[in-house]
Amino acid sequence: MQIAIPAERLAGETRVAATPETVKKLVGLGHSVVVEKGAGVASAMLDAAYKEAGASLVGSRTAALTAGDIVLTVRALPAEDIAQLKDGAVLIGMLAPYSNPDLPKLAAKQASAFAMELLPRTTRAQSMDVLSSQNNIAGYKAVLLANHYYPRFMPMLMTAAGTVKPARVLILGVGVAGLQAIATAKRLGAVVEAFDVRPSTKEQVESLGAKFVEVPMTDAEKAANDGVYAKEMSEDYQRRQTELVDKHAKQADIVITTALIPGKPAPRLLSAATVAAMKPGSVIVDMAAESGGNVESTRCGEVVHTDNGVTVVGTANLPGLMAGDASALYAKNLLTFLSLMLTKEGFSINLEDELLAATLVTHAGELRFGQAAPAAA
Ligand code: NAD
Repeated sequence: MQIAIPAERLAGETRVAATPETVKKLVGLGHSVVVEKGAGVASAMLDAAYKEAGASLVGSRTAALTAGDIVLTVRALPAEDIAQLKDGAVLIGMLAPYSNPDLPKLAAKQASAFAMELLPRTTRAQSMDVLSSQNNIAGYKAVLLANHYYPRFMPMLMTAAGTVKPARVLILGVGVAGLQAIATAKRLGAVVEAFDVRPSTKEQVESLGAKFVEVPMTDAEKAANDGVYAKEMSEDYQRRQTELVDKHAKQADIVITTALIPGKPAPRLLSAATVAAMKPGSVIVDMAAESGGNVESTRCGEVVHTDNGVTVVGTANLPGLMAGDASALYAKNLLTFLSLMLTKEGFSINLEDELLAATLVTHAGELRFGQAAPAAA
């Protein structure tokens, strides 16, 4: 099979879908790999390394796209790129299935397109789970970004000139990113507390040495949020949550928000009024900025300084700020996923395989994805 790696086109996207290491493995399996020149530069992976790994380098995007029986990407392809794909090509990437208006165009191209965000969160899928590999990086980087804008130390220090108090960090949303944010803030010496609507996260928070902020829940609310993904909560629960979260945010020096609900706008966790009541010098990093933001004051892609001295960081694509490791892990996720389909003879898509069936959004001319959120497990 001919496997193509185009350079990413989205402004600010620094990652790449294959590394010299994964290219070498694909070539070793008997496939040929075409890489668009410069595709890995922003991830610290040079053309020469891809060449040494056995790839052919091509100078244009068109040459890469038209060459691929299989095309690996980080982000969804725009319509003009889809038009250049081979009829019946396989496309694998983070295709933004809930919001991508071009899925019908992929179906019209007879493409077999896999949206990696839809991978079930099961043990078998873990090594291919791009949301986990990328959110883990984002959670780490969010704490370092907060630290960059925070005008004080994170750890407690006793110096000859006086004692410095440790930073109080509040993490809202304890998925993969939130757990890594807790661990990173703890390593830097902060006092950490965290909140999530899923009650099962309490134990995970406490096992990392942080304090769980607990909104009292009815049994029905607990049962409703017992799944893998969070559900939208009732107005009454949201009122109780807002009261408690507001209280803790006002005491915090750093707030990292990570709350997402697949296929829905990010839940609003902090109002502008709460931000206006936070301490001067405090920092918020809103990791949900690209999905509408958890914080009313967030501007996606910007760093906002409020009148009361709070910095609200809405920087997008945090994994892209660590493109070397983000690409290395993403490319390994894709290689493992691709191995489900590569055979000695070439390629086969087993629609009985739950991982392939769940991620395949277009196939054989059909749109297979209704752009509705997945049911919680
Ligand atoms: P995510 O990025 O979808 O969301 C981040 C967190 O925000 C979640 O923990 C969610 O509960 C929380 N959240 C949503 N609304 C909220 C609100 N109003 N207030 C506070 N928090 C809110 O999460 P993720 O990191 O993709 O993880 C999603 C699920 O997948 C988790 O249950 C995680 O344990 C699971 N997971 C399983 C595997 C595996 O077994 N293979 C791997 C990774 C993640």
